[in-house]
Amino acid sequence: MSSESLHAGILDDIAPELGVIRWIDASGQPLADYGLHKMPGRYKLIFCFQDACPGCHRSGFPTLTRVVEAFRGSTFVSFAVVQTVFEDFEENTYERMLATQRRYALPLPFGHDAGEGREGAGSVLMQRYRSGGTPWFILIDPSGVVVFNQFHVDAQQLITALKKAEQMPPAAPSDPNVLDWRGVLQLARDGNPAPPRRLELTEAQWRERLTPEQFQITRLKGTERAHSSALCKLFEPGRYACTCCGTELFDAATKFDSKSGWPSFTQALAPGLVAYHADRSHGMSRIETTCNVCDAHLGHVFPDGPVPSGLRYCINAVSLEKRSEQVT
Ligand SMILES: [Zn+2]
Repeated sequence: MSSESLHAGILDDIAPELGVIRWIDASGQPLADYGLHKMPGRYKLIFCFQDACPGCHRSGFPTLTRVVEAFRGSTFVSFAVVQTVFEDFEENTYERMLATQRRYALPLPFGHDAGEGREGAGSVLMQRYRSGGTPWFILIDPSGVVVFNQFHVDAQQLITALKKAEQMPPAAPSDPNVLDWRGVLQLARDGNPAPPRRLELTEAQWRERLTPEQFQITRLKGTERAHSSALCKLFEPGRYACTCCGTELFDAATKFDSKSGWPSFTQALAPGLVAYHADRSHGMSRIETTCNVCDAHLGHVFPDGPVPSGLRYCINAVSLEKRSEQVT
């Protein structure tokens, strides 16, 4: 693996916990527990290095030092430095991490991440963030979203951007009634609002109510075959309800032809009806959508939809029941 890899890590996604077990505090003393949950800053900058990596000393640490200097005495940005070992295991040791902290006199927590207990497995952080080498910078914004995850960072540009953000009042969403991707990520991270009502049945009761296919998809998080439903091509007015509990979840006015093979919507009918959950199954990082009333699995939501929300709710047709517009 080349340390000069151009591979870019996860972006615009909820920052996973760092997964680093061994830490020392700013004065070099062992720290029992550290990670994103302990970092106080509104922005969090993680610098990943290996002591035997020349680029880390040539450009990585000088860049980090400049940013740290620029925010000395401020709580706007907090920092963590992690030796993410993926090569030269005999050189990039815990002791060398201790020595590196002393060498740069950086008053910051340092971590050592060589995949302890998993012989030769290497850095857990790198796997979680899909970073491509060292030196590497990860920036996490106040909403907990990864906004930078790259090999190179221009110190001056980063300082300027962060200083600007520090001076700005928190941005208000352009339309508070439209949920956007950032809002989805926040709900997935912080929890969903209370549903208008709840329906909780036992597995046996659901099996009784649903067809085997409905049960498989809605209660066991299955996925129907792409292009398997005529609902994809249906654009008549009306509402789409949860097939399990009958709660109306989407309006046909927000349905669009995504050509994905699943019914697609840009927005739910109202806040609190659809719930959002981080889903890291199948080696992917996605946001699962469920019915907030009965927890039926609906599908996923992606940030590549049309305006105004930019969202694409990709929903199993089996999870939905189309209701016609009431004729008066
Ligand atoms: Zn439901």
